[in-house]
Amino acid sequence: MATETMTAECAIAGGGPAGVMLGFLLARAGVNVVVLEKHEDFFRDFRGDTIHPSTLEVMHELGLLDEFLKLPHQQVKELGAQIGDDMVALADFSHLPTHAKFIAFMPQWDFLDFLAAQGKRYPSFHLRMRAEVDELLKDGDRVVGLKAATPEGDLEVHADLVVGTDGRHSTVRKLAGLEVEDLGAPMDVLWLRLSRRPEDGSDTLGRIEPRRFFVMIDRGDYWQCAFVIPKGGFNELRRKGLEAFRLAIVALKPSLENRMKEIASWDDVKLLTVRVDRLKKWYRPGLLCIGDAAHAMSPIGGVGINLAIQDAVATANILATPLLEGRVTEEDLRKVEKRRLLPTELTQALQIFIQNRVVSNVLTMKTQPKPPLIARLLDRFAWLRRWPARLIGMGFRPEHVHTPEAPSQAK
Ligand SMILES: Cc1cc2nc3c(=O)[nH]c(=O)nc-3n(C[C@H](O)[C@H](O)[C@H](O)COP(=O)(O)OP(=O)(O)OC[C@H]3O[C@@H](n4cnc5c(N)ncnc54)[C@H](O)[C@@H]3O)c2cc1C
Repeated sequence: MATETMTAECAIAGGGPAGVMLGFLLARAGVNVVVLEKHEDFFRDFRGDTIHPSTLEVMHELGLLDEFLKLPHQQVKELGAQIGDDMVALADFSHLPTHAKFIAFMPQWDFLDFLAAQGKRYPSFHLRMRAEVDELLKDGDRVVGLKAATPEGDLEVHADLVVGTDGRHSTVRKLAGLEVEDLGAPMDVLWLRLSRRPEDGSDTLGRIEPRRFFVMIDRGDYWQCAFVIPKGGFNELRRKGLEAFRLAIVALKPSLENRMKEIASWDDVKLLTVRVDRLKKWYRPGLLCIGDAAHAMSPIGGVGINLAIQDAVATANILATPLLEGRVTEEDLRKVEKRRLLPTELTQALQIFIQNRVVSNVLTMKTQPKPPLIARLLDRFAWLRRWPARLIGMGFRPEHVHTPEAPSQAK
């Protein structure tokens, strides 16, 4: 099969939140950009569906918030947990200094389809689905493009800059020889869905019992459920059998008993192997990694998508002009890492603290837990609940769109 060749100012490997947002923002600024995604569509179940207030603020800055919120979604304004027998309120998003004061739960494929459609309004945006990046093109030490396998044959993209946004198992970072620091995680998460019935109520709820951590997220006609297990514990759970797993869920939430048949086989249960890691250096000449490819996040706080989007906004802000002027230097790439490293480090440090101090304890605990002092204070004083909401909803360094829309770009 023939090799197809393209040239671009920026080639982006991976069409997840980081890659599609970056492609859209760069094309909007007039940069000629190609996004390569290995799947044929964005449809993947249980890939993070949380759109945080800071991401919604970015949509507002782009003039897209109203249109975006027309897509089906659920709005979560408060978070709470049942710890042992006590219900506690933990976070209240309604006072955030943002236009959307809630977390929007929306299937990730709807979010990505929306962003891709916005990108396609610009003639310099090119999205190639079913293009799996498998090689970097190099000139000496410098990366000058990439090669992808497509159903029609090889595709070579020669580019001034390659950005790896291909997620936590990034091929690009491996090919680039970028070193990963594993920060450790004591747990894995099982995701499953169960139908939601009118009598269920609608509160998004975490439930903490001895050795059990269960979260139910209201997704309209179903509950998206997360069942936290000790790291590597999935095989042991499977050995005990599906019925034992169903009983464990019923013990946590007895009202779910009447829909346990919906967990018909282990195929209905999706394992998320939790990783928390970070690249020691996010770039090398001609190449940069952002999003999960630069830092896989723990699911605590559901902030992975948000960080990926914030990385994309910062990358576009810093690199759009050098890309347009054909002069991206290593110093520019270092600026992106410098800008995003601190929020990444602080978020991961907080996640690791919660993993080690809360999750690990719960997974080994033998007696009925009681809400710790901090949870009791949050429950008692409503104004205190604004702080966790701010941390979860906006993160440590919310980014704002500074790239202008290039004149004559919009179709
Ligand atoms: C089961 C699960 C549940 C999660 N739940 C949440 C949640 O509730 N909230 C939250 O915020 N985060 C959640 N996350 C994490 C969140 O999905 C990620 O942090 C976020 O999607 C990172 O975005 P990204 O664009 O950096 O990478 P990804 O979303 O991983 O996107 C990478 C893209 O690159 C593509 N790709 C990979 N390799 C190649 C290649 N060689 N060539 C071309 N394309 C390639 C992939 O197909 C994918 O589309 C969850 C993750 C998982 C796995």
